[in-house]
Amino acid sequence: MAGDSAAGALVSVSAPLAARQTVLGWGMAVGGESDVIAITSQQQLSEVLRWAAAAGKQVALRGSGCSYGDAACGRGKIVLDLRGMKRLLQWDPSSGRVRAEAGYTIADLWKVAIGDGWWPPVVSGTMEPSLGGAAAMNIHGKNAYRVGPIGDHICALKICKVDGTFAEVLPADPLFAAIISSFGELAVICEVELQLKKVYSGELEVLGVSVPDLDKMFDEFEKLQDDSDYLVSWLDAFAGGSGLGRGLIHAAYQLKPGQDPQPQALMRVEAQQLPPRLFGVIPKSWMWVFLKPFSNKLGMRLINWAKQTSGRLLEHGKRYRQSHGAFHFLLDYVPNWKFIYKPHGMIQHQIFVPKAQARLVFRQVLELEHRHGMPAFLAVMKRHRADRFLLTHGLDGYSLAQDFPVTAGNRQQLWALCAEIDALVAAAGGRFYFAKDATLKPETVVQSWPAENLREFARLRQQLDPQGVLSTDLYERAVAPALAQLSAQP
Ligand SMILES: Cc1cc2nc3c(=O)[nH]c(=O)nc-3n(C[C@H](O)[C@H](O)[C@H](O)COP(=O)(O)OP(=O)(O)OC[C@H]3O[C@@H](n4cnc5c(N)ncnc54)[C@H](O)[C@@H]3O)c2cc1C
Repeated sequence: MAGDSAAGALVSVSAPLAARQTVLGWGMAVGGESDVIAITSQQQLSEVLRWAAAAGKQVALRGSGCSYGDAACGRGKIVLDLRGMKRLLQWDPSSGRVRAEAGYTIADLWKVAIGDGWWPPVVSGTMEPSLGGAAAMNIHGKNAYRVGPIGDHICALKICKVDGTFAEVLPADPLFAAIISSFGELAVICEVELQLKKVYSGELEVLGVSVPDLDKMFDEFEKLQDDSDYLVSWLDAFAGGSGLGRGLIHAAYQLKPGQDPQPQALMRVEAQQLPPRLFGVIPKSWMWVFLKPFSNKLGMRLINWAKQTSGRLLEHGKRYRQSHGAFHFLLDYVPNWKFIYKPHGMIQHQIFVPKAQARLVFRQVLELEHRHGMPAFLAVMKRHRADRFLLTHGLDGYSLAQDFPVTAGNRQQLWALCAEIDALVAAAGGRFYFAKDATLKPETVVQSWPAENLREFARLRQQLDPQGVLSTDLYERAVAPALAQLSAQP
């Protein structure tokens, strides 16, 4: 009977609101047609979930849609667009504790907090992700090696289960460690409570270090990781031979009390944002049009070379101050830059390798790409630490995130390259990141996460969502078959 009344509720809720749309991953290379329901309240969410369970429908959860691959896509299914469920529920400027609904974004968060001297503890390279999507993927920042992923800073979650009931989940509950990193396959995160970190200036001190090869890259990372607060490097994936792995590291340091004599001057939203026009003339939103002619191997080789050269000549050894916004969200400053990859889009592929194996594996990966004639157009390296979340990507080691264009003719070859890279990573005890994935094979999932973690995930899913209502393309492609392979093993 409960199912009947829930189904009735949806007729009024969803019928006019579900709209057939093309729902793609952020990289525009995967996804398809879905029936999208825009969710604006927790009550509506609960009703829709109960209806879906009663009607035998499958739903894919979607926050801001910033996952590069198919993690927030549901071809032929219902996609719940959670962006409208985004109330700020509590903000305490004295403690830096915030509670908001899942659709509230990192952008909303820093804008509310910076004036009171707080900054999100972990942010991604874009400020667009929702808190729900960030928690579901357990996102990391350029400070992952120091403070861990976002899950380590979440104080409470409120979830809505597939049966439409709500529950508060606290860090001591084993379910907490499973929901964070569950990529929307156990329950819907409705509210996130987060502890922000105190900042004493609107700026960071940044140090540029240009390195000529991969060994120096690792040497410098090892030196800089002890006292820096943030560490990230760009690699020129086109460089081969003795220049393989060359690039530019940025280490950033938080200012201590007193280091900025006028802290309030830059702890304002306007001071964190770059001007809307390049050279005061070209609107930023057009910049991708100027970059488009470079979106081929020759153009990208040139851009990577220019970045390496300017890094070596102009940035090496220099210390300068940069706003938090400019340091963290560089990728947001060229809106729609991904359009340079139109019409077929791009994928990002991020590998995580334990520190003892990372030098060798990153070298092998870069060499492999050269042999295939497919160097990454953009490559970024970070340092990470291990964390306690059930299907996390985090480990004590290094990650390499690489952007590859998808063209009319290269899809098969690119997927094959990723499979070869994955084999190297899995053999070295590495992992992958579902937020950046479009290509992972089920057998690699089985190889890369501890069997007991995958089994626990399967057990929780059976308990919370026995009908399998929650289901994305990522889940169907890589995780569900992996769980099936595992359960077939003795
Ligand atoms: C330019 C760019 C830079 C990035 N940089 C980084 C980075 O530095 N570090 C990093 O870690 N990631 C990075 N990312 C990836 C991004 O942070 C993650 O994909 C994040 O999950 C996106 O949040 P979202 O709200 O867009 O979620 P979506 O992409 O919409 O969804 C992510 C996953 O969470 C699920 N989900 C969404 N909302 C909920 C909810 N309320 N409850 C339960 N499940 C839910 C979805 O089903 C999906 O599986 C970057 C992405 C881009 C585009």
